[in-house]
Amino acid sequence: MFIQNVSLILTALKQSLYPPACILCGAAGDLGLDLCIPCRSELPLLGTVCSRCSNPLTENTPILCGTCQQDPPLQKSTLCPYRYDQPIDYLIQQLKFHHKLYLAPLFGELMVQFLKTRLNTMPECIIPVPLYPKRLRDRGFNQALEIARPIARAFNIPIDYQSVKRVRDTPPQLGLLQVDRKINLHNAFLVKKNIQVKHVAIVDDVFTTGTTVGELAKVLYQSGVERVEVWVCARTLLK
Ligand SMILES: [Zn+2]
Ligand SMILES: [Zn+2]
Repeated sequence: MFIQNVSLILTALKQSLYPPACILCGAAGDLGLDLCIPCRSELPLLGTVCSRCSNPLTENTPILCGTCQQDPPLQKSTLCPYRYDQPIDYLIQQLKFHHKLYLAPLFGELMVQFLKTRLNTMPECIIPVPLYPKRLRDRGFNQALEIARPIARAFNIPIDYQSVKRVRDTPPQLGLLQVDRKINLHNAFLVKKNIQVKHVAIVDDVFTTGTTVGELAKVLYQSGVERVEVWVCARTLLK
């Protein structure tokens, strides 16, 4: 609570000292975000997608994609606003690999505005995908947790970043084949203490093949959670 209050005060202070400016072109930001209206309108929205995995659907298809009809993922739904495409991919890489932590609240706010139009029932808690401890030390922050903070605040849902631990280090996923990802991430997560809630939303920055969130969902179900959904900023498209 204390940290949340401090972060609210800091956000208010920052906004009064530095009015929002677009991180892509420098023009005045809109709706308190560091993004202008024209740049925001050009962000690569996913459009109509599969409710289970957020894979784009062509017109006149049912609500589930072919993959989910044959072999549905563990999560009950995936909510994701953007394709992992320019400039979202660039911004996420800046956040993760170039220490641009200030981009996380922007992604969080964009997620809030997207989720407001999609959510029916609220999960009881948000679990950001944990980083392996060494990776967390190297990066200095967990981008999934930082993106989750504004979402948790907007919907008044607690964040649980202590019950699940990443017990296997895994190299960055981009560039690995799907089969390699599965081997790589097998048993990557461990539930440290019993999770008391039944409905959880996993938050992450990018959804690539879904292996990471699938592994996390697996241990959550094993520990008694009954409904897992996934909220991510961007998704790579299936080839
Ligand atoms: Zn702009
Ligand atoms: Zn699907």
